[in-house]
Amino acid sequence: MQKLRSINDYLKSPFTDITPLLELALQKSHAWLITHTNSMLSNTEKTTLDALIKQRQNGTPFAYLSGKKGFYHLDFKVTPDTLIPRPETELLIDIALDLFKNKPCTLLDLGTGSGVIAVTLADKNPHWQVTATDFSIDALRVAKKNATTTINFQQGSWFEAVPNQTFDFIISNPPYIKEEDEHLINLRYEPISALTSGKDGLKDIKIIINQAPTYLNTQGFLLLEHGYNQQEAIIDLLKKNFTDIQTFKDYNSNNRAIMAQLKINTRGEEK
Ligand code: GLN
Repeated sequence: MQKLRSINDYLKSPFTDITPLLELALQKSHAWLITHTNSMLSNTEKTTLDALIKQRQNGTPFAYLSGKKGFYHLDFKVTPDTLIPRPETELLIDIALDLFKNKPCTLLDLGTGSGVIAVTLADKNPHWQVTATDFSIDALRVAKKNATTTINFQQGSWFEAVPNQTFDFIISNPPYIKEEDEHLINLRYEPISALTSGKDGLKDIKIIINQAPTYLNTQGFLLLEHGYNQQEAIIDLLKKNFTDIQTFKDYNSNNRAIMAQLKINTRGEEK
């Protein structure tokens, strides 16, 4: 990177994400960059940019360098304490908005991370009562900064965060990757506890499905994001206490979400 000096030199270089990295280092818009291609970088700008390029080359996700990621209609702060929001998770927002369209709702987002599910839904429905939990205090700190409305944040592992409370709708994007999954190497900068869940990736999903009846109101709904190959196993887990099981594909046509309604008379029988 020694010889690179002008914006144009950098734009022509082969580095991953060079355009957004330039925008970030110079704090300029894309439009400004392409209309100032002959501008020379100052020493400070060059040092900042070269350091960012190096981190990106080493695999740090761009969102951790910029400290933010767009999700649905909002921009979210993200840190290495939280998973980077995925576009697939926007599917859960569409499903939830459709289900409780113009209706009141007490919502629980389990394992909120940066808060995307709870914050987006609360922002769209300021009259809903939204609770969001996470085991990680550091993640909750990020989620609180992202909130645009009043959200009840609680710390704890899954339902331990909300003892004796019940909800109309429970949503979660839990960890669901197998501990030994070979793709984890590509996700090494993100918190492992937000990604993996036991040998089959279903450990946390099982806990949520088995305990949800105790925390759902009569005929309440449970909506989960899951791995592309977990749909059948999850349907089997849901059958005992849930009915009207609906499955959803993400925008890449992978099975990605499942929603079910609590059967009448099952609440509280299982814990
Ligand atoms: N969908 C994410 C991925 O495969 C994982 C998110 C999660 O475990 N909830 O990268």
